[in-house]
Amino acid sequence: MAVQRTFSIIKPDATERNLTGAVNAVIEKAGLRIIGQRRIQMTQAQAERFYGVHSERPFFGELVAFMTSGPVVVQVLEGENAVAAYREVMGATNPAEAADGTIRKLFAKSIGENTVHGSDSEENAAIEIEQFFTEADIAG
Ligand code: GDP
Repeated sequence: MAVQRTFSIIKPDATERNLTGAVNAVIEKAGLRIIGQRRIQMTQAQAERFYGVHSERPFFGELVAFMTSGPVVVQVLEGENAVAAYREVMGATNPAEAADGTIRKLFAKSIGENTVHGSDSEENAAIEIEQFFTEADIAG
């Protein structure tokens, strides 16, 4: 297994409930290192670009509205097999289907307001990290 980077977002439903530290504790307990982190208010343009792959889906408008409804915490995570490792600790998209102990099982409110984003491939991780970080903001 190789050391990889992945991109994470702690979503507005979590920042609104003051859960940044609680989510980060689960991330770190899973062996992932938070090597870049910034709290931002996402603009509509940033959210539309970030979720562009979902632009034809019926929930796209709702998703963009949600992601711009409050602050988010964008993160770069590093660890062994980080892309898959983080997807596992996040849990299923729908919290009702998420495994015990996963972030979404612990904290998510619904299939839309589901607390975290994590990249689905190493290629997408690199693209997503580049949208929000320069190398100067990352220290591994
Ligand atoms: P993920 O990779 O597990 O985040 O899931 P997807 O890539 O399928 O979807 C991206 C995001 O869109 C999810 O994390 C949710 O925030 C949102 N989403 C997915 N399905 C739905 C849905 O049926 N309704 C709403 N409102 N949002 C959804």
